[in-house]
Amino acid sequence: MNLCGYYPESINEGEGLRASIFISGCRHRCKGCFSPATWNFNYGEPFTLQRQNEIISEIAGNPLLSGISLLGGDPFFSAAEVGSFLDRLYEQAGEVNTWIYTGYTYEELTADPLAAEYALLRRCHVLVDGRFEETLRDTSLRYCGSSNQRLIDIPASLASGQVVLWQPAITF
Ligand code: SF4
Repeated sequence: MNLCGYYPESINEGEGLRASIFISGCRHRCKGCFSPATWNFNYGEPFTLQRQNEIISEIAGNPLLSGISLLGGDPFFSAAEVGSFLDRLYEQAGEVNTWIYTGYTYEELTADPLAAEYALLRRCHVLVDGRFEETLRDTSLRYCGSSNQRLIDIPASLASGQVVLWQPAITF
């Protein structure tokens, strides 16, 4: 698994101040993708255990963070490894509020409860789902690029058996 970007503090990829972690590799190939270089699983630097531990320590030691965001590429193409990273992060920092961005839909990710993708989804709190659709591009949207994409409250959706949209705690 490779890392293609890391911002220790960002306000662009989710609510509040978040550490944003970009995982290389994506096979969705959306037309108009903002960063096709990140489709390559070898792009960026190896996300070694040592690098993961450095980032975990930074997150655990930053009381200003509201949580983390996982982006790409698409972290669900490395679901098992990203899930292990989250396990170690939660072990060290307690359960951190986690947003995760993907080209998959919620329905695709919940189709097989035995899959690594489902296990990763269950560890997270907000899912920004769906492929980027160039014809539905909307720059007025916060936290996503096209109007087909949804911000989903994962625990509430899994508990109720239907998609529950995330509601912002901070309104402007
Ligand atoms: S899912 Fe994201 S990274 Fe992958 S092709 Fe679509 S826009 Fe690009």
